[in-house]
Amino acid sequence: MRFLADSKEYSLDKEHFGDFLNDEENPIKDIDEDYILEILKGKKLDFEKAYYNYSCVNCKSEKQGKSKAYEFYEYHFYLYTKDGVVVSNSFQTEEGESYARLEKVGKVNNSYIVSIIICAECGYFEIEIEEFEV
Ligand SMILES: [Zn+2]
Repeated sequence: MRFLADSKEYSLDKEHFGDFLNDEENPIKDIDEDYILEILKGKKLDFEKAYYNYSCVNCKSEKQGKSKAYEFYEYHFYLYTKDGVVVSNSFQTEEGESYARLEKVGKVNNSYIVSIIICAECGYFEIEIEEFEV
């Protein structure tokens, strides 16, 4: 899967994959980077520029000018679970039943934010999952 940002192409593939970080306290069951990338496949994703004060672990990019910040691209979506197992995601709820509705009828009981974070310099990416109240 590829996307273009500031006329540079980035690929979400095995070659650039760095790390998969599940929630530490309440990790989602039976989930990995392949599962996440499969959800994103074929979707139009609007990555946003983000600046962190720590560098990419892969390329340890030089600080950008005097800003003392490192450039990344970020994308977020949400996963909805029932007893730790994914039952829906924010792509599905945008088209169908809302999270509030699913929760009301007992189909889901927890929600997570998924962050895809890409180093603007080398394209190395991480997937991070954190418990998040919708
Ligand atoms: Zn990098």
